Amino acid sequence: MKHVIVIGGGLVGLGTALQLARLHPGARIRLLEKEPKVGAHQSTHNSGVLHAGLYYKPGSLKARLAVSGIRLMTAFCQEHGVKHEICGKIVVATNDAEIARLHTLLERGTQNGLRDLRWLSQDELSEIEPHAAGVAAVRVPEEGIVDYAGVCVAMQRVLVRSDVEVMTGMRTSSSTVPVCTVTVWRSLPGCSGRPAFCPFAESTISSSLRHRGW
Ligand SMILES: Cc1cc2nc3c(=O)[nH]c(=O)nc-3n(C[C@H](O)[C@H](O)[C@H](O)COP(=O)(O)OP(=O)(O)OC[C@H]3O[C@@H](n4cnc5c(N)ncnc54)[C@H](O)[C@@H]3O)c2cc1C
Repeated sequence: MKHVIVIGGGLVGLGTALQLARLHPGARIRLLEKEPKVGAHQSTHNSGVLHAGLYYKPGSLKARLAVSGIRLMTAFCQEHGVKHEICGKIVVATNDAEIARLHTLLERGTQNGLRDLRWLSQDELSEIEPHAAGVAAVRVPEEGIVDYAGVCVAMQRVLVRSDVEVMTGMRTSSSTVPVCTVTVWRSLPGCSGRPAFCPFAESTISSSLRHRGW
């Protein structure tokens, strides 16, 4: 049986654990979060925007992940009843010098596969958002806002339902985290009984894990 430990219960750790659970339904997966609840840090202290990859270089991994990511995240929110709104975003050029850069963004967004991007004149901008002062704008209808705290809680719920154990209040030693992340990936096969793929486990997390059956 595969044993995996994911360290950190922010959006990245929760998402990683979810994907692992989907790809390896028989694996024994645990997520260790040092705080009393998941999503206590950056993941719930950001701007709450669903970004669609307008700024990234076309063809880059970031661009591809951003475009598919916003669609996957929107679908996840719909499926799990997480508050979100695809209200669109307007990127504003505040002076003539910014117009060329705005054209570049429009081009990048189009090449990245964003749908229905639209150039707005000053009048159209004022009509949509009278409080924004600018000389032109680009409307990005696919972007939106989301309750990332709700996303974290929903991800935790799905993980628990998939038999992933989400252990809060479990801090791993910061100096050993890089060793673990490398080791986890290459030593999945052949693990037995306890997290043998984590050489540091003896000194850091093993006592807590062992009395819970690892
Ligand atoms: C100002 C700002 C605004 C942003 N706005 C947006 C936005 O609008 N939209 C967007 O999509 N992205 C936004 N981002 C980016 C986004 O918030 C991050 O990419 C995302 O939250 C990163 O998630 P994470 O899981 O890596 O980090 P975190 O949410 O910080 O999660 C890391 C987790 O690991 C735990 N941890 C740390 N050390 C240990 C340890 N030793 N043992 C166990 N657990 C540990 C922590 O307690 C924490 O819960 C923004 C970022 C910033 C800085």
